[in-house]
Amino acid sequence: MNSRYGYLRNEKGLLSWIVNKVLRSGWAKHPVKQTFTLRAMCTAPIGKNGRGIKAIQCEGCLQYFRPKEVQVNHKNNCVQNGVSWEELPHIIRRMFDVGLEDLEHLCKDCHDIVTYSERYDCTKEEAKLHKKAIRFSKKSAKEQKELLVKAGIEPAKSATGRREQVFNYLKERAK
Ligand SMILES: [Zn+2]
Repeated sequence: MNSRYGYLRNEKGLLSWIVNKVLRSGWAKHPVKQTFTLRAMCTAPIGKNGRGIKAIQCEGCLQYFRPKEVQVNHKNNCVQNGVSWEELPHIIRRMFDVGLEDLEHLCKDCHDIVTYSERYDCTKEEAKLHKKAIRFSKKSAKEQKELLVKAGIEPAKSATGRREQVFNYLKERAK
């Protein structure tokens, strides 16, 4: 076991542990975050048999969800790629020095799309299509080929190639 970093192994591991564990658990208790969630709480007919229960609206898809299915997102990406000691104070500031107007509630699907678009620097629309293409690539090769043929596309040999074909197909259709 490394005497300085332990199972985190190196400086990079330590820095991402600070951001993902230490800062995020602090953020979970942030008073502005708590106020934000309390204010968004409403009643929506999403319970059993359309019963009205406590809910929060996702600001991405505008659907209502149970409060624990919704996450609070910083509208401005606060953890950009490559954490360093020099960058850490800025991350802390972007994460904690926020007001209600800097936050939004997102359901898991919408949050994934935003995270993807920030990570790969693409639009939310493109991220949505990439997510769909990734879901497609989890099907068996046989199923993928059948679906492509159905859409009038000669299936590529490689899985990556087929994923690209689906992405382009979806993009073309979204125009
Ligand atoms: Zn949503």
